[in-house]
Amino acid sequence: MEPFMPRLVYFEPGALEYPLGQQLYEKFKQLQIEIRKTTSHNQIRNLPGENDLQKYRIAKQTLVVGIRKTLKFEPSKPSAEYAIPLATGCMGHCHYCYLQTTLGSKPYVRTYVNLDEIFAQAKKYIHERKPKITRFEASCTSDIVGIDHLTHSLKKAIEFIGQTEHGRLRFTTKFHHVDHLLDANHQQKTRFRFSINSPYMIRTFELKTSSLEQRIEAAVKVAKAGYPLGFVVAPLYLHENWEQEYLELFRLLKNRLLPSLTKDLTFELIQHRFTKPAKRVIEKNYPQTKLDMNIEKRKYKWGRFVPKYVYPTEEAENLERTMRQYIADHFPHAVIEYFT
Ligand code: SF4
Repeated sequence: MEPFMPRLVYFEPGALEYPLGQQLYEKFKQLQIEIRKTTSHNQIRNLPGENDLQKYRIAKQTLVVGIRKTLKFEPSKPSAEYAIPLATGCMGHCHYCYLQTTLGSKPYVRTYVNLDEIFAQAKKYIHERKPKITRFEASCTSDIVGIDHLTHSLKKAIEFIGQTEHGRLRFTTKFHHVDHLLDANHQQKTRFRFSINSPYMIRTFELKTSSLEQRIEAAVKVAKAGYPLGFVVAPLYLHENWEQEYLELFRLLKNRLLPSLTKDLTFELIQHRFTKPAKRVIEKNYPQTKLDMNIEKRKYKWGRFVPKYVYPTEEAENLERTMRQYIADHFPHAVIEYFT
């Protein structure tokens, strides 16, 4: 899996007035990547491609460099108090991507260059909650690690949080391009999490992301660099042979992670869910998908913005019980933060 390189880059007004905007402009110019100007990402309509599918794929290879105007951070329960907005969108092609509901019609990747303003806002939130710890989640709207080799925004956020007393940062990724983050001055205030799944799930649904092997190798590197480590096992999905496959996943993790690297280890467990808008986007953009989104077989659950469909109680309980048992057997000292 090669690191992401956009095929087309748009600059929004004002982006070049920030050092990061200028750096990105120079970088893409040197790389001879097509650069366009746009008055706003909302105005991007003429993406290359002969049909909707092609346009969707090209949009995922398009980067928009802009300014984050809304500096009110969204809440990010259950993993953190706030979502810190560094980027939006992702170049990956996971069929069940959690962004399908909100970003289905705007699949391009956006990165924000006004980092100092974003960090100043984060500082305010930290100050308001003092002496309580304030956790920021950096991967609510994108897989931030996947684009950070270009921007280093995440690295700056890690170092910014490292200097605070009451701030903490967390993010999750399906990419293994972590080398530039290994020497960040994190002060152990960032929890570096990898999104993992059964081999079947990664093979079948997580296209254009790093392999399980690569993610585990990267997890070893970040744990050796002193970051608190975590795994988000998601989405948990009842596929054929799921018990055996998830068991293999935990065995593999245990074999690769030396006990010295798992002293501070967390797991988050998220069962598969979908919304009606996401189902429409998935069926349109991945018409051959094997993802089972039969509403009849699911339980309706009220979500923050739109209702979602999860497994019926008994199946969800079975999933949760099985995963908790596997974790207890393989990583008895790990903390399971939640099952949802
Ligand atoms: Fe979505 Fe994450 Fe896959 Fe990117 S890597 S497409 S953010 S699920």
